[in-house]
Amino acid sequence: MKRAIPAILSALAAVGANAADHAPLATTGDVPVFVEEARAADVAHVYGGPFEFFVGGGVAVFDCDGDRREDMVVAGGKNETALYRNVSAAGGTLEFEHLSLGLEPRDAANALGAYPIDLDNDGRKDLVILRVGQNLLLRGLPECRFEKANKAFGASTKALGGIVVTVGHERDHHGRAEEHFLPAGPFAILPLKGKRSSLVWTETRKEAARLTALGEEEFHAELERRFGLHLGEIEALDKPRAFPLGYFVARSFIADRLALVGDAAHLIHPIAGQGLNMGLKDVAALAEVVVDAARLGMDPGQADVLERYQRWRRFDTMAMGVATNSLNFLFSNESKLLRTVRDIGLGLVDRAPPLKSLFIRQAAGLTGEVPRLLKGEAL
Ligand SMILES: Cc1cc2nc3c(=O)[nH]c(=O)nc-3n(C[C@H](O)[C@H](O)[C@H](O)COP(=O)(O)OP(=O)(O)OC[C@H]3O[C@@H](n4cnc5c(N)ncnc54)[C@H](O)[C@@H]3O)c2cc1C
Repeated sequence: MKRAIPAILSALAAVGANAADHAPLATTGDVPVFVEEARAADVAHVYGGPFEFFVGGGVAVFDCDGDRREDMVVAGGKNETALYRNVSAAGGTLEFEHLSLGLEPRDAANALGAYPIDLDNDGRKDLVILRVGQNLLLRGLPECRFEKANKAFGASTKALGGIVVTVGHERDHHGRAEEHFLPAGPFAILPLKGKRSSLVWTETRKEAARLTALGEEEFHAELERRFGLHLGEIEALDKPRAFPLGYFVARSFIADRLALVGDAAHLIHPIAGQGLNMGLKDVAALAEVVVDAARLGMDPGQADVLERYQRWRRFDTMAMGVATNSLNFLFSNESKLLRTVRDIGLGLVDRAPPLKSLFIRQAAGLTGEVPRLLKGEAL
């Protein structure tokens, strides 16, 4: 470490000296270079892939064979998710052995991130692997072996539908929103003006179709069973409708003199109530980009102007998409184990005010580069 400081300082001095002519940096001393160190330790791994993968690239670091050395499971994007067992000698150089995770080829690729959690409390870390496609739960076995355990851990993989209906109730809601987590996903009661609430009720797509096809009385019975009577007698004020829920982000938000905004550009699960907010952020960002270009005398529809809009909105959209997808994975299941992890997570957020405020700011669309219109400023 002591050796590294003068080396870094001389590297910085070299940056200053070379900045004017952009000549390549001269290497001074033995500054460790991450890529070289990884290669020397036999971790020849690359996270890569097209746009679906540009939010991601996580690594799970944990001891999978009980030898008190940290091993790694590294997400690969389009490349295979890789397991590296740490076989370094104590005090020696870093050395890893590449092992198979034992997954079928269709499960081995497309990972965005890997998280070690002891889901079944057997003292051994299991893995949650978030993917483009089906997320995976892997049960940890002795000697760094894993087995796919989505079913065993009760994680749902069924297509979901959201039932929307306005509910009238006897008592006032006092402006309080509620979100209950049923096995298929959230059941949200959102206050409207007067003694009315808007209901967003997640079920499997098949069950949502069945429920919305029921007669008034039968639907009322199903509704009451979940809604309860804490707001007094209830009634459905309009016809319940079901919408397919899913996750989709357009490959490109722009084309020749065209820009996509709102749900035309992205569909996310309503678990965090962010779909419309994201659309409004798109509109505000596009308006800002177009007005700025027009002020500079540029053609507001030209490719580089629209490219600025795409760069601004796509990363934010992908990040929110992955976050809501992961939340939904954690919440939409019948697994007691996953529920415990989730409840601990929410409890921690509740007890950590800065974290809570970050989540509230994120939900209000106030993180990242906020367009002027969303800050209440003129264009
Ligand atoms: C169950 C559910 C609950 C949700 N809850 C929330 C929430 O709590 N908070 C939140 O922020 N977001 C929520 N959303 C997401 C939100 O509803 C959408 O993000 C938002 O409505 C998208 O607005 P939009 O104008 O982009 O698209 P849309 O609302 O889909 O509007 C597009 C309109 O274009 C019309 N159209 C389509 N094709 C044509 C055509 N060829 N010609 C003419 N018209 C056409 C459609 O009929 C539609 O009226 C929820 C979504 C669902 C499904």
